[in-house]
Amino acid sequence: MPLLPPGPAGSANDNANAANATQPARKRAWASWRNSLWALPLLLSLGFVLGVLAWARNNEIDERALQHQTMISDALSTEAQLRTKLDDELAHLRELASRLQGQTPSAATLAAQPELNAGLRRLWLSVTWLDARNRILAQLPAATEDQRKIDEDGLSLHLTAPVLGTGPDGADGMLVVRYSPALLLKRGVPWWLSHKYDIQMVDSADQVIASSVDVSVRLAQGPRPSYRISFPGPLRASPLTESALTDAGLELTLRDPPAVTTRPLALVLIAGFLPLIAGASWLLRRQVRQVSRAESAWRTEAAWRQAMEDSALVGLRARDADGRLLYVNRTFCDMVGLSAESLIGQRPPMPYWPPDALEELTARNRLNLAGHAPREGFEARWRHADGRPLEVKVFESPLVDAAGKQIGWMGSIIDITNAKRLEEGERRQIEIMGNNARLTMLGEVASTLAHELNQPLTAIASYNAGIINSLAKLGVTDTAVLGALQRLGQQAAHAGRIVQRIREFLTRREPQHELCELNLVITDAVALLGRELARAQVQIDLRLDPDLPALLADAVLVEQVVINLVRNAADALQARPQGRRIEIRSSRSASSAHASGGVEFVRVAVSDNGPGLGGRSIETLCAPFYSTKREGMGMGLAICRSIIEAHQGVLDVDASVSGGARFSFSLPLHTPELLATHNGESRDD
Ligand code: ADP
Repeated sequence: MPLLPPGPAGSANDNANAANATQPARKRAWASWRNSLWALPLLLSLGFVLGVLAWARNNEIDERALQHQTMISDALSTEAQLRTKLDDELAHLRELASRLQGQTPSAATLAAQPELNAGLRRLWLSVTWLDARNRILAQLPAATEDQRKIDEDGLSLHLTAPVLGTGPDGADGMLVVRYSPALLLKRGVPWWLSHKYDIQMVDSADQVIASSVDVSVRLAQGPRPSYRISFPGPLRASPLTESALTDAGLELTLRDPPAVTTRPLALVLIAGFLPLIAGASWLLRRQVRQVSRAESAWRTEAAWRQAMEDSALVGLRARDADGRLLYVNRTFCDMVGLSAESLIGQRPPMPYWPPDALEELTARNRLNLAGHAPREGFEARWRHADGRPLEVKVFESPLVDAAGKQIGWMGSIIDITNAKRLEEGERRQIEIMGNNARLTMLGEVASTLAHELNQPLTAIASYNAGIINSLAKLGVTDTAVLGALQRLGQQAAHAGRIVQRIREFLTRREPQHELCELNLVITDAVALLGRELARAQVQIDLRLDPDLPALLADAVLVEQVVINLVRNAADALQARPQGRRIEIRSSRSASSAHASGGVEFVRVAVSDNGPGLGGRSIETLCAPFYSTKREGMGMGLAICRSIIEAHQGVLDVDASVSGGARFSFSLPLHTPELLATHNGESRDD
């Protein structure tokens, strides 16, 4: 059968279940995310490293672009400088040519020109005067070894200027200046540029025309950033051709390229940083796992502790040295009916102290805080929040922190209200039982006394009557004697009546027959004797027939019999140093059924493993005032017997299997008809 009807209730339940299911799933997801948090620094570091690399690369590109820009502008500036230089030289040459105009071409004429010497000092290697047919008219300086060496070393370039009116025919000649482009580079380029760059002049076939540095040195330095611009200008390889080197170029090669430090530095840093961060992450991961393991262990322990504290039947409270409540467990809260929130932080007087006991509890509290709480605990009277009184037992012990320093007091509180109530009930029950027993005993004593005194009193009365009759026959008329005898008779009769009345008063309690469960009577009696038997270190073994039918009897009186027999057995067992055992057995006596004409009996036997009876008969033991105990009255068994007999039962005794005594009594089990009659009477009542 479905527990929940289908419909909204079912779906609400499903939703709740789903919510409950998602909660642990969410918790699990959070826990696994937290457990992988250790990887976060590693990932961030990797991101950082990639960022640094990208930045370094950008930086490098920027630097290269800037360098390129600088080289372009430097190349343009170099080109402009060289061009200016060549223009100057050309201007000087033209000046020289104009001076030679109309003069006789000779070396002397040439040498006489100051421009020539100045030009040779500057840049010129030689100046050649050609006629209109390009024949050398004069040349200075003359070709020397040095000159040839220079010629071999590299290409030389030329500047030309026409000399008007040269020669006898007045034809124009030409001045050709040969100069070294290497010298041009050396002298025409400002120092700061030549310091910064290796400068080369190259032709279209990449042939070096001139270089500011030795080619072998250049090659040895390896590839470096360079920039080439075309340098068409007035460069002329041959004096006889008019054409300039149109495809010549000027190449600037950075001499000391600035070391791009960021990238290698970044790489070095990363190379060192990555293993370190990986190592650190691994350590972190181990640490995180340890922490999460410790945390989970701590959580489990805390949950256990909480569960144990909550399920403890003892109330727990922790107080600081001033008596302020620091902690209370659930049992404590339930005990006083107040919430933990309202209790924690409270100082004496506590809200659960009854107003009428404030003084006493304040004094007690002062003693406790001074460390004078009794070790065995103390009892106190508190009050529940609903006003009902509480009886508690408090055990105080020092509250010590992890460093071993006492920081307050820990109290364990047991609610003994019910125990006290039970104890009180038990005490009252025992008192009542004692009173009953005393009354029964007095009744028995009175009955015995009446029985014993009746005969002598009757004898006194009849002797007295006989004496009065005899005196009357003898004619004695002495009124004093007769009056005394009459009063004697009256007194004897009065004494008889008094005895009779006392007996009637004390034995007027007739057995109150009612349906009673004998097993229950036995267990009640044993429960009443519980403490006494525990003190006497006697072990009780109950072997009760569970199918015992109820019988008509006075439960109080039968209980007295059981108590008396068990007490006697316990007294007898004191002779044994240990292993004191009493067995109480209840049974239905089948064998007596025939013997007593169809009436069945229920039998209760109390056996002990004490010293036994030493051959004493039931008559001896049940005789009034027979006792072998120092303070015994000797009426117990007599009373038991009279109670059992008042129930038409039999009290008997024999030896137990263990050699001790076995006292037993049998009570008639009435027929169903009788029981029905009794029930009918009870209803009529
Ligand atoms: P009291 O207990 O005052 O002595 P009782 O009539 O109850 O009077 O007992 C009479 C005597 O019977 C006891 O003094 C004791 O000697 C003997 N008696 C009773 N029960 C036992 C027993 N279980 N074992 C040995 N002796 C017993």
